[in-house]
Amino acid sequence: MDVSLVLYAVPMVVITAIYVWRQHRTHQRHNQVLQDTVAAGMTEPASLHPLIDDSKCLGCGTCVKACPETSHHDVLGLINGKAVLIGPTDCIGHGACKTACPFDAITLVFGTARRGLDIPLLKPNFESNVPGIYVAGELGGMGLIKNALTQGQQALEAIAKAGVKRPGALDVLIVGAGPAGLAASLAAKKMGLSYQTVEQEALGGAVFQYPRGKLVMTAPVELPIIGKVQFRNTSKEDLLKFWNDACQGNGLKIGYQERVESVENKDGAFHVRTSKNQYVASTVLLGIGRRGTPRKLGVPGEELSKVVYCLIDPEQYRGQHVVVVGGGDSALEAAASIAELGGTTVALSYRGDAFQRAKQRNRQRVDEAAKKGQLQVLLNSQVREIRAEEVVLKQGDKELKLRNDAVIVSAGGILPNDFLKSIGIQVETKWGTE
Ligand SMILES: Cc1cc2nc3c(=O)[nH]c(=O)nc-3n(C[C@H](O)[C@H](O)[C@H](O)COP(=O)(O)OP(=O)(O)OC[C@H]3O[C@@H](n4cnc5c(N)ncnc54)[C@H](O)[C@@H]3O)c2cc1C
Ligand code: SF4
Repeated sequence: MDVSLVLYAVPMVVITAIYVWRQHRTHQRHNQVLQDTVAAGMTEPASLHPLIDDSKCLGCGTCVKACPETSHHDVLGLINGKAVLIGPTDCIGHGACKTACPFDAITLVFGTARRGLDIPLLKPNFESNVPGIYVAGELGGMGLIKNALTQGQQALEAIAKAGVKRPGALDVLIVGAGPAGLAASLAAKKMGLSYQTVEQEALGGAVFQYPRGKLVMTAPVELPIIGKVQFRNTSKEDLLKFWNDACQGNGLKIGYQERVESVENKDGAFHVRTSKNQYVASTVLLGIGRRGTPRKLGVPGEELSKVVYCLIDPEQYRGQHVVVVGGGDSALEAAASIAELGGTTVALSYRGDAFQRAKQRNRQRVDEAAKKGQLQVLLNSQVREIRAEEVVLKQGDKELKLRNDAVIVSAGGILPNDFLKSIGIQVETKWGTE
C-alpha cells in the first residue's frame, strides 16, 4: 500500500469519522431537548428571540456558541444541520446569535405565529397614545439591562422637556424599579423633578430574580448622577449591590412592596392607586417589564414574610421545613434543588394530578428526590392557610398540617396586558415579526 495514503488518508478518515460522530451526538442531544420543550409546552419565548431562515442556515453552529446563555441553558441547538430555538423560554433576547451568523440567517422577532406579543405603540419620545404616560425598557420591546437603563433616562429627559406640571401633583410617578425605573429615578433626581418610584417587589426588577451567582452580561453605560459605569461581565450580586448603593447614596424615593393597581386620568392629572397609597402625578412612566405580577394563592396568611414567589438561592433554605406550590418547571426545579441539599423537609403541592407542564429532567429530579425520601409530592392538593409555623393543605377529603418555615409559590404570573388596556394604552400585537 502507498505509504502516503496511509499517512494522509487514514488520519482524514479518522477525523471525519470523529466529526460525523460528534455531529450525530449533538443532533441527538438537541433533539431530545426540543422534544422535552414541546412536551412541557414551553415553546413560547418571553420577548425578542431569533427566527431562523432554514433556506439560509448552513448549520455552522456559530450562533449556538455565540449565545451568552449557552453556558447554562440550551437555547439554540443544531438539528438536521440547521439551527433551531430548542429552549425558547430561556431566550432573553441578547441578539448575539444574529450578530454572529455569517449567513444572515437570523432575524430577531417578537411573538410567534401561535402567541402574539403586545408591544405598546410609542412616539419617538417614549410617550404612549395616552398623553402623559410614557413607557421605557422591556415593556416597550427594548430588553437587556443596558437598553433599559438608557431608555429609562431618555424617557425621563423627554418628560422633563415636555414640562407638564399640575398643581399639587408629582411631576412624575415612576412604576417599577428594574433597570429602566432605576435610571429614570436617578434622572428625575438629577433634573430636580418631584417624583416617586413604586416597585411591587425589590430593587433590580428581573435582575433581582436571577439565580444566585448568575453571570450578567452587559455593557458600559452612562447613568445620571453616577456617570460612566464600566460593568461588562459581572455577578448578579455585585450589580445589585452597586445599584443599592446608588439608591441609598442618593436618597432615591422608592417605595418597595408597593404595587400599582390602577391609573386614572381625572381633570388632566393621573390618580394612581397602589397597594399602599394614592398619588396624583402630572405624568407616569411605566418601566414594568414583561414578567408581570406573580400569581397569588389568595389564602389567609399569604402576607407573611416567609412567603415568596421565586427561588433565588436553595442554600438559604438549608435545614428548614419548606412548602413549594406549583406544577410548572420553576416549582419542580425549586423543590428538587432544595430537597437535594439534604437536611431539609420539602413538600411540593400541586392541584393537578400530574406534572405535565414541566420538563422531563425536572420531573426526573422530583421523582428521584421523592424516591430517596427527600421530597413529599402532594398531587391534587391545595393550600388552605399559611400560619406562622405550619401550612394547612387539603388533599381530597384529608386536611394536612405541615410544619413550615418557608413557602415558595411558583404559580406563574399575570401578564401586564390587562393593566395596559385598563389605562387605555394602545398596543401592536406582533406575531413573530420584527
Ligand atoms: C433569567 C434572565 C437572565 C437575564 N440575563 C441578562 C443578562 O445577562 N444581560 C442583560 O442585559 N439582560 C439580561 N436579562 C434581561 C434583563 O434582565 C431585562 O431585559 C431587564 O431587566 C429589563 O428591565 P426593565 O426595567 O425594563 O424591566 P424589569 O427588570 O422586568 O423590571 C420591571 C419592574 O417593574 C415591577 N412592576 C411590574 N408591575 C408593577 C406594578 N404594577 N407596580 C409596581 N411595580 C411593578 C416589577 O416587579 C419589576 O421589578 C435577563 C432576563 C432574565 C429573565
Ligand atoms: S450561525 Fe447562522 S448559519 Fe450558522 S447555524 Fe446559526 S443560523 Fe445557521
